[in-house]
Amino acid sequence: MHEFALAESVVRATLQTAESEGMTAVTRVVVQVGELQQIKKDVFEFALKQVHSDDPRLADTVLVVEIVPARFSCRVCEHGFTLAETGEHDADAKEAIHFVPELAHAFMRCPACGSPDFEVAEGRGVGIASIEGERPDA
Ligand SMILES: [Zn+2]
Repeated sequence: MHEFALAESVVRATLQTAESEGMTAVTRVVVQVGELQQIKKDVFEFALKQVHSDDPRLADTVLVVEIVPARFSCRVCEHGFTLAETGEHDADAKEAIHFVPELAHAFMRCPACGSPDFEVAEGRGVGIASIEGERPDA
């Protein structure tokens, strides 16, 4: 399960930060997941709860999962746009774009110049946006 592997790497990175920052408890972790990342938010949240329970520093951590909307950037006119701005897509097209972002080129055109030559600027990957924790009176 993809979500569990990602959850494990988020927890590992969080603990490394807690270690290097000398945190005694991690209070809040904000994880950003790209809209095009093939992830189910509820499964990912469940996975984070499952894997984070065995370290005492993570006992009371609030985990926030944010979905980052996909943004595209036209290589011809440099216009930046979102999926919604490219017009109506049927459910099959949306599904295809979410699962295989490369397929976006088959369904979408730059809304400014009509070119199919664009790149995914945002909305892929998983990253930790912030880690907050308690430190012994620093
Ligand atoms: Zn364009």
